[in-house]
Amino acid sequence: MYDYDLLVVGSANADLVIGVERRPAAGETVLGSDLAVHPGGKGANQAVAAARLGARTALLARVGDDAHGRLLLDSQREAGVDTVGVLVGGAPTGVALITVDPSGDNSIVVSPGANGRLAPQDVRAAASLFQGSRVVSAQLEIPLETVVEVVRNLAPGSRFVLNPSPPRPLPPEVLAVCDPLIVNEHEAKVILGGSAVGDAPEDWARILLAKGPRSVVVTLGSQGALVASAEGVSRIASVKVDAVDTTGAGDAFTAALAYRLAAGESLAQAAAYAARVGAATVTKEGAQASFPTAAEVAAR
Ligand code: ADP
Repeated sequence: MYDYDLLVVGSANADLVIGVERRPAAGETVLGSDLAVHPGGKGANQAVAAARLGARTALLARVGDDAHGRLLLDSQREAGVDTVGVLVGGAPTGVALITVDPSGDNSIVVSPGANGRLAPQDVRAAASLFQGSRVVSAQLEIPLETVVEVVRNLAPGSRFVLNPSPPRPLPPEVLAVCDPLIVNEHEAKVILGGSAVGDAPEDWARILLAKGPRSVVVTLGSQGALVASAEGVSRIASVKVDAVDTTGAGDAFTAALAYRLAAGESLAQAAAYAARVGAATVTKEGAQASFPTAAEVAAR
C-alpha cells in the first residue's frame, strides 16, 4: 500500500574536516591535515542509515546547485534512497566546518545554507511523498516552521518520529504527534526547559511523556535506551561493543527505529533493533561510512 517505509525530512550538509594539533584561538592561524569532505547532516544521515538496512526510503531536503550538493545526491542514490524530493538551489549546500584535535575534541561551525531554505511550501508541494510513506521522520536542522508544516501534512495512518536535534522548545502541535519523540540526555533537558528533572532517565522519560508525545525514547549512549508510552517505561539493554567513534549513532538509531516501526514492530522491539544498529555504528569511524547493512546487524 505504501511506496516508502520511511520519508525523512531534514538537513543535508557537507562535513569539511581538518585534523589539527591544536584548535586555533581567536586571531590565530594553525596548519592542519589534508581536507576530508564527507556527506552528512542529520536528515541525509538518517535516510542513508535506513536505506542501508533495507528500508524503502525517500528524502525531502534542499541542497545547493554546487559540488557539495552533487556529493550529497550521489551518496543518497548509492545507498538506495529515492532523491525525487531533494530540491536543488536557493542557497549553497549546508556546510559543517570541523576541526578536530588529537584527543578527538572538535570545534564546529555550521552554515545551514540551503537547509535554511527548506520551506513550508516545499512540504506542501511534496504531498505525494507524504501520502506514500508509512513513517515520516524529522530533526531540527531545518526551520521549525517547516517541521510544523510536516506534522500538518502527515497522511492519515502514517506515523511521525522526531529527533529534536539541535534541541529547542517545541510547540504543543508538534509534540502531540511524536510517536516517538527520540532524545538523548542533552536534548531531554532542553525540551524540558532546563527544569530540574533529577538524575534518573526514567523520570525524564515520564516528564517528557506528560508534555504530550504519544511515546518517548531516551537514548543513553553505551547504557542503551529507555522507551516510555502509556503502557509504562522500559529499559532497552545496551549491546556491548568496543566503541571507536560515536558519530552518527543517534541518527542510525532513529533511522533503524523508524524503519522497524514501519515494518509493524512494537516500540520496544524496534528500539531493541535500533540499539543493535547504534552499537554497530560506533564500531566504525565516520557517520554515513559507519552505518551497517541488515546482514551486518544480523551477524553481530
Ligand atoms: P546521540 O548520538 O544522539 O547522543 P547516543 O549516543 O545515545 O545518541 O546513541 C544512540 C544509541 O546508539 C544508544 O541509545 C545506543 O543504543 C547506541 N550506542 C551509542 N553509543 C554506544 C556504545 N558506546 N556502545 C553500545 N551502544 C551504543
